[in-house]
Amino acid sequence: MDFRSDTVTKPTEEMRQAMATAQVGDDVYGEDPTVNRLEELAAEKLGKEAALFVTSGTQGNQVAVLTHCRAGDEVLLEAESHIFLYEGGAASALAGVQTRPLAGNRGAMDPIQVKKALRGEDIHYPYSGLICLENTHNKSGGKIVPLENMRAIYEIAREKQVPVHLDGARLFNAAVGIDQPVTAFTQYADTVQVCLSKGLSAPIGSVLAGSKSFIREARKWRKRLGGGLRQVGVIAAPGIIALERMVERLAEDHVHARMLAEGLAAIQGLKVAIEGVETNIVLCDIKGTNLSNEEFLERLKAEQVLAVPFDEGIIRFVTHREITESAVHNALKGIQKALK
Ligand SMILES: *Cc1c(COP(=O)(O)O)cnc(C)c1O
Repeated sequence: MDFRSDTVTKPTEEMRQAMATAQVGDDVYGEDPTVNRLEELAAEKLGKEAALFVTSGTQGNQVAVLTHCRAGDEVLLEAESHIFLYEGGAASALAGVQTRPLAGNRGAMDPIQVKKALRGEDIHYPYSGLICLENTHNKSGGKIVPLENMRAIYEIAREKQVPVHLDGARLFNAAVGIDQPVTAFTQYADTVQVCLSKGLSAPIGSVLAGSKSFIREARKWRKRLGGGLRQVGVIAAPGIIALERMVERLAEDHVHARMLAEGLAAIQGLKVAIEGVETNIVLCDIKGTNLSNEEFLERLKAEQVLAVPFDEGIIRFVTHREITESAVHNALKGIQKALK
């Protein structure tokens, strides 16, 4: 019962079949029909002109930063965003940009603060090169950043002619979570990165979408990063299945996350803000058990339950395709036993 992340999902039998029979060609020459089909499909689903298949979410986000910005530019992002916290400082290491984190509320930056933080003309200032949004917001526990917040920030950005990139690693979870098409979100971003390898269950890859001219430049940056691949249709094929057939299914993960949250909250020493469980991530406060994160996780592991430490006294559980309803019940039984 592996709740560490939705990245642990393995390809389905249908995906394996698609991999085995995928038509391929050299994608650096633009000749892989399966990759081309995935990129067209992703562009259409995300409501953008074009898309680019990239190796990972991190590569998609970093290609976006590199394409939008020049060295010395400033990137505004939320203080607990993935790009700021979890990409190894890539934005400064690779793009040479300065990141400027703004405090968020459940992953949402305050539009007024964003407006204030955008630079005017002054010889002392860096240029404001990019605003990054994230939805769902990972660190706050899979929160859905409200459309209204995205709209407000996007309007400010347009006024100042600063592009907006959306880190939508789990954007389909947000869309399914509020029962809206994914384009309801992407209309408020110039570019978007979506992971195929999380809840959508593909083995590898993300897509980055935007305008045709943006994707042309992004393709060049991907090549510079060593991300120009050859007969890559074998891994694009499961990506097509991910986009076509795995999106609606995410609703089950959300139901299972709620079940898990309610079960955890009923266990002595554990606290969960159940109303805060909006998608497939559950943050559990274990301080009442007087166990360290390491001790707590060791005990769970002895009951075949895996999760990850997220903060001091906070453990993260993620639901996904391989966590069934009965797996949730069994995990809860195991956790109860582990804490006796
Ligand atoms: C997982 C994740 C990424 C990065 O994806 P990788 O494929 O692991 O590089 C980016 N942003 C968010 C919000 C994520 O959750």
